[in-house]
Amino acid sequence: MKIHRIATIPGDGIGKEVVPAGRRVLEALAATDPALRFEFEDFDWGGDYYRRHGRMMPEDGLDRLRGKDAILFGSAGDPDIPDHVTLWGLRLRICQGFDQYANVRPTRILPGIDSPLKRCAPGDLDWVIVRENSEGEYSGAGGRVHQGFPNEAATDVTIMTRSGVERIIRYAFELARTRPRKQLTVVSKSNAQRHAMVMWDEIAVSVSRDFPDVKWDKELVDAATARMVNRPATLDTIVATNLHADILSDLAAALAGSLGIAPTGNIDPQRRFPSMFEPIHGSAFDIMGKGLANPVGTFWSAVMLLEHVGEPAAASRLMAAIEKVTADPSLHTRDLGGSATTEQVTSAVCNALGAGSHR
Ligand code: NAD
Ligand code: MN
Repeated sequence: MKIHRIATIPGDGIGKEVVPAGRRVLEALAATDPALRFEFEDFDWGGDYYRRHGRMMPEDGLDRLRGKDAILFGSAGDPDIPDHVTLWGLRLRICQGFDQYANVRPTRILPGIDSPLKRCAPGDLDWVIVRENSEGEYSGAGGRVHQGFPNEAATDVTIMTRSGVERIIRYAFELARTRPRKQLTVVSKSNAQRHAMVMWDEIAVSVSRDFPDVKWDKELVDAATARMVNRPATLDTIVATNLHADILSDLAAALAGSLGIAPTGNIDPQRRFPSMFEPIHGSAFDIMGKGLANPVGTFWSAVMLLEHVGEPAAASRLMAAIEKVTADPSLHTRDLGGSATTEQVTSAVCNALGAGSHR
């Protein structure tokens, strides 16, 4: 039996509420299955650590995570520290240090959840967005000169490499192939961005030749937003650049009912390094410390973590328990129009696991 070594990094704001809840749910899962074992180690990195040490994580932080099988992350973002410091100092440091180049974001409307899409039948919206997570518009290249003067100039330079684009598009084709519809939409903007995005399109065409069993099409990013709203059932797996997929996936989360539900994985498909799973929401300053945070996004992220570490049966059991709880409106948190607390939702999922139909 393999013991899965999991690092937990709650980070800031409601991350400190939802990550312990996620750990509780994983422990409840293990308590009902003798073949499932975890060894957790918690890391107190983030805004409080920054106030004590002047940095978001220790210098040897990556080395301390390197031997883990996976990371469960909360959120980086503190009301008193600039966002680019918290983001680049912790979350992006881990994503880039471990070359987690595929950011995978599944979206579905879970039972009991009300979607703002009024003409959408359950099952019409079942997507996985694959986001390029290592370069592109968020490569960090650029600069600012003559600050404060009328001739001030600033650039953020998009960097796309053939190897970077090829590996993410290949990953998306492979993922599309594992899903029932075997369908991929490649999102582009090659009409207006005539260099990198044209290369992106060309690479999609050449990679597609290795996947004759996957049906694929191309959509410009602006048209993709309208298609997500008007014809959700025509989409399945979607691949897009760092910036485009960032925006599309927040739209996807909102269409599926709430930002508080949506999960994501920052994945190193080659498994050279641990991959990191997290809810897509941030620190939610407006509700932090009040016990109101929806933990479902973290639980669903834990499902992705279980799939990644080779525990598909445990992943399905946890997903079934989550869906049993979302189906009951009395267990909805405030973001879903209910009044349940983080603690009540967490206990309900733990109970559903205990009472569940284990083998
Ligand atoms: P946010 O996701 O923190 O909050 C947006 C809105 O959604 C808020 O009204 C919040 O209350 C609500 N919300 C979010 N998650 C919720 C949950 N689980 N349950 C109930 N309601 C929830 O986004 P923001 O306000 O733009 O950012 C706040 C801070 O978080 C910033 O510092 C930002 O940089 C950071 N952030 C971090 C990450 C990350 O670490 N991955 C992602 C997004 C934002
Ligand atoms: Mn985002």
